[in-house]
Formats: sequence, structure tokens, C-alpha cells
Amino acid sequence: MTDQFETLAVHAGADPDPLTGGVSPAIEMSTTFKQDAVGETRGGFEYGRSDNPTRRALESAIAALEGGTRGFAYASGLAATQNLLYLLDPGDRILLSDDAYGGTWRLASGVWGRYGIQTDAVDLRDLEAVAAALAGNAPARMVWIETPTNPLLKVVDISAVARLAAAAGALSVVDSTFATPFLQRPLELEADLVLHSATKYLGGHSDVISGLVATRRDDLAERLAFHQNAAGAVPSPFDCWLVMRGLRTLAIRMERACANAAQIAAWLGTRPGVARVHYPGLPDHPQRELVERQMRLPGAMVSFEPAGDEAFARRVVAATRLFTLAESLGAVESLIELPAAMTHASAAGSPLEVPASLIRLSVGIEAVDDLIVDLDAALAAAQG
Ligand code: PLP
Repeated sequence: MTDQFETLAVHAGADPDPLTGGVSPAIEMSTTFKQDAVGETRGGFEYGRSDNPTRRALESAIAALEGGTRGFAYASGLAATQNLLYLLDPGDRILLSDDAYGGTWRLASGVWGRYGIQTDAVDLRDLEAVAAALAGNAPARMVWIETPTNPLLKVVDISAVARLAAAAGALSVVDSTFATPFLQRPLELEADLVLHSATKYLGGHSDVISGLVATRRDDLAERLAFHQNAAGAVPSPFDCWLVMRGLRTLAIRMERACANAAQIAAWLGTRPGVARVHYPGLPDHPQRELVERQMRLPGAMVSFEPAGDEAFARRVVAATRLFTLAESLGAVESLIELPAAMTHASAAGSPLEVPASLIRLSVGIEAVDDLIVDLDAALAAAQG
């Protein structure tokens, strides 16, 4: 019998230590490992950058949670992003969601371009536009799907885009940071690779920077393993352990945060002073049917446009008591931010630019009534 997700999240990669019986994975700090004769290792460990027992535990956990065969851990979500790029060659073209994390765009426009890799922003919800963009002058070699997108919470049909990409000979990647494997499993929807900023929900406590990738394709896994060692952007054993600890409560944290977010999104929709709410769980979300098909729950990220200008939005985000004004997302505590001036500042003037007054909420696991009182008071204070 296959264990359900909630069970896997607690146990994947966390078998009791064979030597001591410790039920929490050991943090193995050795950078090098004794060989009994040249090349004769104990369990395949030689050098800490190439492989490490704590990292291996985390990598097997993310592979299991995503329904993949191999997992890879990196020093950050962007280090993971960069490592996927090593799968491409100069002259290749990437299609990127036209709403995506600003740092992904910064890497694409500020770094990949200099190495001859062109990135085109496309609305991946529009399958005709995807098909046309895949064909292009130089055929695309990778489609970078982010869903739900950051910060406008657009939802992309993973299996439809992955199939179009495969038919055109392009790899499909899903940045599933907002969803986590608890809400959506891209590899089961035919994506080639799934990526997480584990800094967010997987770690879950705003205390570790980390990135993860999983795949079912042996050919890609072999190349990723080579690049992970060759380029060396690996996480520390302690960071791996922190992410493992976060994974164990992922399901229960997500359930609570999603329930809170659904209530807050519905409440915002009724609050005077709020012009537009973006949340995949709202009955009028344009891709409601897809959300129900593709996601277990609609997530815990909400964004909204106040009925006021940027100055008004700046007053709102500075006036909350429980929602902390800070970048990042996905932890137990609720956060509020202004993407255009903060997380997405590097997308200014690009096709990924976001509305100046858009406010993004990362809804945490506090009591929802307290969170609503907090937002209500901040909106009232900003109105003056
Ligand atoms: N992908 C998404 C959707 C993100 O929100 C972020 C960070 O905010 C990243 C990737 C990058 O992750 P990291 O900050 O761990 O490098």
C-alpha cells in the first residue's frame, strides 16, 4: 500500500538512524569520508560537495513527495534555477511565464542573456500563444512554468503546456514554490522537472534559504548530478536538516494557511477600499475549473489592489500589526509586501512589471479572525 502524502511528509527520508535509532535525521558535518581502499567508500560518500548523508535524506524526501525518482538540493531557490539552466546551450531560447518571481526574471535578463540564452515572456495560460512561441524563429528548448504565479496568482494548465513543450522538443519546468507538493504534483502532470524555493513553505519557518528540484527522467537526473557537483551551489547539512524538519509539518501547515487565505480573500472581496482580489480559490477566478482539477487546495497566497494609489498601498503595508512588512513568503507567520517596490523591483519596465499599488499577502497559520482585524485596521488607518 502506498502511504498518503501526510504520512510521506513525516517519514520520507527520515528513517531512524541505522546506528543509533535516532528518529530525527543526523546532521553529518564531515566534508570528507574515509575510503577503505582507493575508491572503496562506505555508502558512496567521498566528499561533501558531491554527496552528503543529510542532503541525501532531503533529496530522497523531495523525490518521494513529488512522485519523482531523483531529488537535488541547492543553496537557494535561485541556485536551483541556475542549475536547471545548465541543461541548455548558448543559442537556446526559454519561454517564461509573463508573471513570475522577479528574481527569476533578473537571472534571465541580467545573466542568461550574456551567455546567449534568450528568454521570452509569454502568458502561459494562452495555449495558442504557447504553441506559437514554441515554434518561433529559434525553437524554444525550455518552458519555465510558474503556477500559481507570483504575485498575480494566475494558474497555468501544467499538463497542457508540458505536452505542447514535449511535442516541440522543449523541456518543461514547473516552479511549484507557491503550491508545494501537497497542493500540486507537476511530475504526475507530465512536467519534466519541478523546482522549489524551499526557503518558503517547505522550510516553513523563515529560517533557512534553500532550493530543491525533482524529476523522474534518469537522463536529466544524471546531468543534474554532474552539474550539482561541478558548479557546487550545495546547501549545508544543517540547512538540509532544517528543511527536513519543515517538511514533516508541511501538510498540516498548508491546510491551516490555505483555510485562512480563503477566508481572507473572501473578506477582502467585500471590504470597501479594495478594488480587486487575486486568489485562485475565489468563485470568480478565471481558471476556477483548472484550479479544482490541478490543485488540492488553492494555496495561501493572496494579492489585492486597493481602491487607492501607490501611496495608499504603502500606508496599508506599513500599518499592519500581525502581518509583518517583509519580502519572502510561505512561513508560519503572515507577511505583507508591495511587490512592485520589493520582490519584483527588478521586473520594472519589463513584460513582468506588476501594478504599483498591488499588495501581496503570505497568509500564515495564526487565528484568522485576528488577521482580518489586523487588515481591517490597516486599511482604515491608511484611509485616514
Ligand atoms: N521561485 C519563487 C516563486 C520565489 O518566490 C522565489 C523567492 O522568493 C524563488 C524562486 C527564489 O528562491 P530563493 O529566494 O530561495 O533563492
